[in-house]
Amino acid sequence: MKISVIGTGYVGLVVGTCFAESGNDVICVDNDERKLKMLKKGESPIYEPGLTDLLKKNIADKRIVFTDSLEKAVKGSEIIFLALPTPQSEDGSADLQHVLAVAKQIGKMMNGYKVIVNKSTVPVGTADRVREITARATTIDFDVVSNPEFLKEGAAVNDFMKPDRIVIGTRSPRALAMMQDLYAPFIRTGNPLIIMDERSSELTKYAANSFLATKVTFMNEIANLCEKVGADVDMVRKGMGTDVRIGQQFLFAGIGYGGSCFPKDVAALLNTSKSYGHKLDILEAVEEVNKMQKQIIVEKLKKHFNDKVKGLTVTLWGLSFKPNTDDIREAPALTIIAALHKAGVNIRAYDPAAMEEMKRKIGNTIKYCENNYDALKGSDALLLLTEWNDFRRPDFDRMKTLMKQPVIFDGRNIYDPKLMAERGFVYYGIGRTGSNK
Ligand code: NAD
Repeated sequence: MKISVIGTGYVGLVVGTCFAESGNDVICVDNDERKLKMLKKGESPIYEPGLTDLLKKNIADKRIVFTDSLEKAVKGSEIIFLALPTPQSEDGSADLQHVLAVAKQIGKMMNGYKVIVNKSTVPVGTADRVREITARATTIDFDVVSNPEFLKEGAAVNDFMKPDRIVIGTRSPRALAMMQDLYAPFIRTGNPLIIMDERSSELTKYAANSFLATKVTFMNEIANLCEKVGADVDMVRKGMGTDVRIGQQFLFAGIGYGGSCFPKDVAALLNTSKSYGHKLDILEAVEEVNKMQKQIIVEKLKKHFNDKVKGLTVTLWGLSFKPNTDDIREAPALTIIAALHKAGVNIRAYDPAAMEEMKRKIGNTIKYCENNYDALKGSDALLLLTEWNDFRRPDFDRMKTLMKQPVIFDGRNIYDPKLMAERGFVYYGIGRTGSNK
């Protein structure tokens, strides 16, 4: 099939590459010159495991091309995916300016029947708005479909190739038949393609992300309680997660959720609900608790040093909001860096993939180091912010020789409190017995 993907970011590039890999002809559009330049050379502008090889292969096979011409994409494809940003506006709502502007342009450029697919996470009613805006610009027949994306950064290619489920929101039999045809290679293992109306589909994505954010936040609150009552959250997690009704995933306590999705999607769902005069009490609490959780490691640091942190040097291991990605959007690291700077702390940092992104965002306000050991030189404390595999089995003796003080604040609970004490570290975890609080 001939398809186009508008917006070649974390979602669009994976979607475009995977559709090319399954034999489609794909035109990817972006308006970012820097990204296009890289993509045309077969370089991925984002860090995503497995993506570069797939990209190079499909460019070589001429199944995927990159352009800044929306017109070329619209005229040359039957299905047009919108994978455009929908960032958070000041009032919490999803900013639809990119989606709606492109919808209008598509209307003007259409040369035959098209299926316009909202892959971006968009509020309930957006398919109707896109339909209205496009219809105002054309007399040609078209359909608008909601097809939210559930991939996880860091495992995006695998998630897209082998999805748990595909959700398609449409009431058009013609559009549905084309979507079923396109997705057939991805559901051969029997995972479902769930068909529903556009509004239910749009809400499904927000409900799923908000539920996951709630699960993480619930566990963080339990971890905080563990510290008060002398229980260990890791044990509680194991005891809970083995119940199949609860499940093992998303039960790890830490320093709060971040990323480009959960914070903005929770805020957008709250905004949608408010605009209908409805209150989502649980989700309001989730947002509040998560804001506090992002500060918790800095509070522990201040408490350890009796509030005398001005002039200290602190090391950050990990900047991305989770491992295996260079994405730092809404990462706890950003909140923590701001709080440390405010307190007059010097910061040395290392991340296997996200240092370029961080530099783009905050410049040289922190010291970016060559590797995790280099980052520890002369440090008064280590704050582990992202659970990259690279950090799981470090040389602890070497760490002690590099640091001024052997103090670790493990924001992801990757080390064993007992072993850390045996190795001579002052160790702080999140909700762990045997660690400091
Ligand atoms: P992104 O910012 O990484 O990518 C968006 C791309 O669109 C950028 O490359 C940008 O240059 C391009 N763009 C912006 N305006 C354009 C225009 N007018 N024409 C052409 N290109 C344009 O964003 P993302 O993380 O890929 O997210 C895209 C959407 O998918 C969002 O709605 C997001 O909520 C949703 N989503 C994201 C994820 C994720 O893990 N990142 C997962 C599921 C859903």
